[in-house]
Amino acid sequence: MRKVCIAGNWKMNMGPQEGAKFVKELAEAVKDASARVVVAPPFVTLSGVVAATKGTNIEVAAQNMSDHLKGAFTGEVSAEMLKEVGVKLVILGHSERRTLYQESDEFINAKVKLALEEGLEVILCVGETLDEREKGQLEAVLKHQVVEGLRGVTPQQMDSIIVAYEPVWAIGTGKTATPDDANQAHALIRGEVATLFGKSVAESLIIQYGGSVKPSNVKELMAMEHIDGALVGGASLTVEQFAPIVCYNN
Ligand code: PEP
Repeated sequence: MRKVCIAGNWKMNMGPQEGAKFVKELAEAVKDASARVVVAPPFVTLSGVVAATKGTNIEVAAQNMSDHLKGAFTGEVSAEMLKEVGVKLVILGHSERRTLYQESDEFINAKVKLALEEGLEVILCVGETLDEREKGQLEAVLKHQVVEGLRGVTPQQMDSIIVAYEPVWAIGTGKTATPDDANQAHALIRGEVATLFGKSVAESLIIQYGGSVKPSNVKELMAMEHIDGALVGGASLTVEQFAPIVCYNN
């Protein structure tokens, strides 16, 4: 039985004060959730949010990390630093990092392996652009991103991997993949993971859907066989919207 995981990616929103206040309110609203609850604030907001979520069911993720452990890498933040402030997970390969900051599959893979070696869980984002979908390249794109993103990861380490399927055309656009389309893409990802790591690893893998998830569409998405959670952007920024997503089945 896979435990649903709902994560909120705050992107470049909420400084330390606002973030800490927000999670205190959120904690009260989601305390009875059966899903795993994760928030991913900006770097400077992480320690305040970790402190404010102590003793709650909310876990804290970073939105990115360096591919190096330490040294002369101006502007970067290491896995060790994240762990020191109490971060448990890290989002890697988000489409905004892939497109706006030209992160390659190879670079993302280096970070995935480092995060796992350092004991962080990884939310690895994959997904096709509209152009790729329209050209019939969905399967090839997902396969490539999964194979390259997970290259060198061991079957044991797969316990610490969550994959987020985020069709790029559905992120922040208000367009959502239909539950059937999303489920089909998730099944492709699970199939690829089965080929790489075996059936039992694939069966236990949590695959989140991301792309304009809202209180109004979360239930039908979560009802699909291969959808085990959500990575939520815009709707994770208010308690009014994020709490009902997290508590979709309460
Ligand atoms: C995201 O950026 O991961 C995302 C899914 O955003 P939104 O929910 O706003 O589409």
